Amino acid sequence: MTYFNLFSNILATKGSTRILISDLQRNTSELYPLELYEIIVELKSHSIEDMMRNYDAESQEIIQEYLNLLLEKEYGFISKNDWDRNFPPLSYEYYEPSTITHIFIELEEISVLNTIKSSIENLGIKHLVIYYLKALTAQELIEIDETFKTSVLSGIEIFSPFHRDVDLSFIQVIQQNTVRIYSLIFYNCPQSPFKAKNEFRFSLRFLKDELQLSACGKVELKYFNTNISKVLEAINHNSCLYKKIGIDKNGTIKNCPLMAESFGNIHISNLEEAIHQPGFKKYWDLTKDYIETCKDCEFRYVCTDCRAYTEGNEKNKADLDISKPLKCGYNPYTGEWKDWTKNPLKKKRFNSLALK
Ligand code: SF4
Repeated sequence: MTYFNLFSNILATKGSTRILISDLQRNTSELYPLELYEIIVELKSHSIEDMMRNYDAESQEIIQEYLNLLLEKEYGFISKNDWDRNFPPLSYEYYEPSTITHIFIELEEISVLNTIKSSIENLGIKHLVIYYLKALTAQELIEIDETFKTSVLSGIEIFSPFHRDVDLSFIQVIQQNTVRIYSLIFYNCPQSPFKAKNEFRFSLRFLKDELQLSACGKVELKYFNTNISKVLEAINHNSCLYKKIGIDKNGTIKNCPLMAESFGNIHISNLEEAIHQPGFKKYWDLTKDYIETCKDCEFRYVCTDCRAYTEGNEKNKADLDISKPLKCGYNPYTGEWKDWTKNPLKKKRFNSLALK
């Protein structure tokens, strides 16, 4: 007898019409027909020969083709006499020691960072994302980095409007004088000032368009992520809001700067108090398995969520919004993608949310 052994790092997610096989070691995901899911499940409890016996000649040929595919893709291997017991299932538990991992700030004045610095330390925040509303000078970028010189904060991502002083020497100064900035994005840039290769410690991008905060939350294939820690987070928690905190340009503390609900203001309270406010963590454990439509989607563990822009038509018993993200044009029941902005109902809902 021969047995098919699926490698522990292979995650098969069943959707309504297709399955997604994610290789959590190689950070890749590929789509396959739904019937492959049943074959994978059957191969876990039957030898290949026993399984084949249950099918007619035509189906056996199809199963053999799928087996060849699973081997070719290195999703598993065949053993003789018994399953190989050296590949126990991977634990899908997720543990994150920090109280908060990410903070997202819509910033007008750098001095605000000094107001929240001690909270960043207390909460063990690792990533800071700044959406700056004014043009940043090189000195200000260095000042931001230096604010967290001896901090637990390990990475800073900055979105800033482009201005004419940003050229190669400007970027070289940032390169020489910062350690925590890992991503710099200049928006509103009609033309890149130079061709950026991979020569900098941080990633550097120049975006032509005006970047509005409301552009966040787009669901597209290019944003999907098969990184194992992101996938485990998505299996256990809300992939957008778990251990995240946001501050809008008025200093209002929120789950994300785009959400309406407020949990205080940094000018009169602090982040530690905010996270203990009733309701601050209410979305943290809302996984996509509980979100309408997403729960039937094969992308649900590699796709990010958005609770700021939703279709807004479903609530659960705890009064949580469990409707599908508004900026998703995928229909898992047909397997088709459509441009969500061409849907008049979604467009109307977006405009009404953006005005709030
Ligand atoms: S339906 Fe859209 S938002 Fe929901 S999991 Fe699928 S791709 Fe993501």
